[in-house]
Amino acid sequence: MRVTKHIEFETAHLLPGYDGGCGNLHGHSYKLEITVEGPQTDGWGMVIDFKKLKRAMEEIVPDHRYIFNAKDISEVEEDIVKVLEKHGLKYQGMPFDTTAENMVKYFAEMIEQSLRNNYGYPHVKVVEAKLWETRDSYATYHRPEYVQMQMELGDE
Ligand SMILES: [Zn+2]
Repeated sequence: MRVTKHIEFETAHLLPGYDGGCGNLHGHSYKLEITVEGPQTDGWGMVIDFKKLKRAMEEIVPDHRYIFNAKDISEVEEDIVKVLEKHGLKYQGMPFDTTAENMVKYFAEMIEQSLRNNYGYPHVKVVEAKLWETRDSYATYHRPEYVQMQMELGDE
């Protein structure tokens, strides 16, 4: 059985060295959709309480803050962080360039880990995640073994 939850959040970023709009400091109203699969283990037939899934998602997304690649920080990102630090404003380092593709995979993995470790749902797996960067652009993550299964079944 699968269930899906959808949340929205606001984040500022830039892609250092990118020749185009995303090379400048800007923000997005992101939408994140997480689909989980698992057994209906509780007495009511739920896979997971929607409220708990929502909370696990909200804890992971960098809402109302500036994000940057902390693994390979550029000079401009470092300067922005200094200004935010000085004024006590929020920022969050990510272990990759802040593209929708990198972020959706990270969110899927972190949310599954949190459901297992913090919410007591060891059998619930994130099978699909979608992250809208704009109204008409999104990246989709599929759990690796499902991609493998589909390839073996000849779906792709
Ligand atoms: Zn952007």
